[in-house]
This record gives sequence, structure tokens and C-alpha cells, in this order.
Amino acid sequence: MEKQSRIFVAGHGGLAGSAIVRELRAQGYANLILRSHAELDLTRQDAVDAFFASVRPEYVFLAAARVGGIQANNTRRAEFIRENLLIQALTIDAAYRNGTRKMLLMGSSCIYPRLAPQPMKEEYLLSGYLEQTNEPYAIAKIAGLKMAEAYRAQYGFDTISLMPTNLYGPGDNFDLEGSHVLPGLIRKFHDAKLAGAATVSIWGSGTPLREFLHVDDLAGASLFLMNNYSSPEIVNVGTGREIAIRDLALLIAKIVGFAGTTVQDSGKPDGAPRKLLDISRLRNLGWEPRIGLSEGIRSTYEWYAAGHAAQSSTYVTVGR
Ligand code: GDP
Repeated sequence: MEKQSRIFVAGHGGLAGSAIVRELRAQGYANLILRSHAELDLTRQDAVDAFFASVRPEYVFLAAARVGGIQANNTRRAEFIRENLLIQALTIDAAYRNGTRKMLLMGSSCIYPRLAPQPMKEEYLLSGYLEQTNEPYAIAKIAGLKMAEAYRAQYGFDTISLMPTNLYGPGDNFDLEGSHVLPGLIRKFHDAKLAGAATVSIWGSGTPLREFLHVDDLAGASLFLMNNYSSPEIVNVGTGREIAIRDLALLIAKIVGFAGTTVQDSGKPDGAPRKLLDISRLRNLGWEPRIGLSEGIRSTYEWYAAGHAAQSSTYVTVGR
């Protein structure tokens, strides 16, 4: 990308998109094209086609998606598959037809089989059954990356696909029902501390293992790959480190300063038992994450406690 290139960041109001915009600006990219959901509904073909035909972005970061935690994925299954399929199908095709030079797609670590060997290498894609709680989302993301791969193979369209692990950071969604575990627990412990409550409930058994990547690291990796990588193989983006949910809860409680205890809500699902990415492909390309988990949670908590979350988008990046 040149500093003056026309760069469209789809989903710039969400967690990943807003971090990519910050990183692009920090690196001096001055010609960013941003559209709110109200200005451009990426699930409508007429709107997407008209936008790409008139603006003709040279580079596209596709960070728009309907996203959410285990509960949102599990209960709003139809919305998750419909909107993600549409956003990807419409934008990939319109970008290709309107002369976009390169497009980056954001996938997810949930595309890998539920019981894949750990850590998960890129080649484990489609080698087994998916986790049920987020299968519609995962199927949509797999369709997107396969569509990108097919456009590269048949038309020579330069697409790259990143598979980030569980993300967190400023701009996250702290909604109690719809959020992912890390922002959800920051909010629960913070509210409990303010209310002087004795207990906080942790969903599921607390034994699942998860990997967490600060979104500023994802943004760094996205620009690095946009500028240095052009290949059909998908690329995992994570830290290569994991933590049990119950240990994550203890860490967040300590950072937030909650002195009470936790109780288990076994009525809520665990999801995949383990989801750790193998990041050797990314490392071999020359990129490493920088932000440690405690440091990242601390700064995210400061951002949340300062009251910024009220202004950030709700748990969907793209809604209807
Ligand atoms: P997942 O990675 O797709 O399973 O999504 P989540 O980040 O929503 O959940 C990760 C794990 O944390 C699951 O085992 C949840 O049951 C568990 N968990 C514990 N407490 C919470 C909570 O308050 N919110 C959420 N979203 N998950 C929680």
C-alpha cells in the first residue's frame, strides 16, 4: 500500500476495524474510506455494488461481521450465518469487479474442528466436525475464505485471509449476554466491585482453555500481512499461549480489584474444550505479538472504567 492509496476499512466501528484504522493512521495512511452501517449496509447487494462502483477502493480490509460470544452465536444462529455469508460474498465480488488491488479477510479460530489437535495448524481446516455453539458463524467464515481462495485461483484476485484467535481490547463489546468472555468478565467484576457484591458468576465449568490476542496486535499483523504477504494459504494470528477460563477470571478479578468469590453457572455451555493456534507460519513471515495478557487486560480495563464502552458499538458490528 502507498500512503495515498484509497483504503476501505469495512467495519471500522467494530473492535478489529477500529484498531486497523488507528494503526493505518499511525503509519501515515491518509486516504481512508470509512462508512457507518447507516451509510452502507454490506448485506444489500445494490448498496455494495453502488459503493464499490463509485469509490473504487484500491485496498480493502474486511473487518465487518456479525460477531459475538458463545451465547450470541448459539442463540442467533440464523443471523450469524446469513449476515456473514452476505457481507463476504457481496464485498469480495464487488471488490474484484471494481479493480481492488488487494483484499484482506478476517476469519476466526472457530473455523477449525472442535477436537483438532492443539495447537491448531492452518492445514487442519475441514479435517473434522465443528463446535456446535458457533457452527453457523464458522461455516460462513469458511465459505468466505474459500470464496477468496477461489477468486484468487480463477481470476487472480489478490486476497489474503487471516484467522485471529479470541480478540479483546478498547472498542470491545461489554454487553453481558452478547459479549465474549474477557470483556464480559471485566464488566461483571467491575459492576460487582462497585455494588459491593460478594460473588460473580462464571459461565460453564471454567476448564475450557482459550487464547487471547490484543486487537492492536491484530491490527499490526493485518498491516504487516497486507504489505508483505500474498498467498492463498490462510494465516493464523494469535499469541500461541492459552489460559483456563477460571484462571482468566482470577486474573481479571485481581486487575479489577474485586475481593469476593466466583460461582459457576453450569447452565451455560463450555463451547470448545481448547482453541490454541499454531502461529509458526506468521512467525516465519517475521511477525510477533507484543502485548502480554495482563498488560492488555489492564489497559482495556482502564479504557472501560473511564466510561468509553458506552460510546462503542453494541455487540454486533453489522446489524439489520
Ligand atoms: P467461545 O470462545 O466461542 O467459546 O466464546 P466466549 O468468549 O463467549 O466464551 C469462552 C468461554 O468462557 C466459554 O467456555 C464460556 O462458557 C466461558 N465464560 C465464562 N464466563 C463467561 C461470561 O461471562 N461471558 C462469556 N461470553 N463467556 C463466559
